[in-house]
Amino acid sequence: MGQGRYFGFWREQQPTQEGRPALCDWLGDAADPASEAVVAYLIRGLTVAAATSLERCLICGEVIGGMAYLSDGHWLWPQGLAHYVAAHQVVLPPPLRHWIMARQGVPFELPEDPLRELDWPTDHTK
Ligand SMILES: [Zn+2]
Repeated sequence: MGQGRYFGFWREQQPTQEGRPALCDWLGDAADPASEAVVAYLIRGLTVAAATSLERCLICGEVIGGMAYLSDGHWLWPQGLAHYVAAHQVVLPPPLRHWIMARQGVPFELPEDPLRELDWPTDHTK
């Protein structure tokens, strides 16, 4: 398939990972009218992995949460993604955006072993 069910892992955070999308390519021109619903959805993601270090916004430098990965049981995103959508109009890829709009109000449920069963970025560049 080639396209994983994860988003928000930027090349700017890991310049050696050329397979990652560049944050600057995902900045929108105007606020998405649905962004409030999208942000609320992203914020309520369940934590599947976390580290103790803090994550700063690559654009404005604000602390945007811990190094944490959230999921709804299907998609995976870093905790800071909500900030990029809310503050910098980052647009989500259509499959993720459609998924979120179709799943408003649906409770999240993680698989038994999220580290194995969710789709994670592989970060293999070759
Ligand atoms: Zn920011």
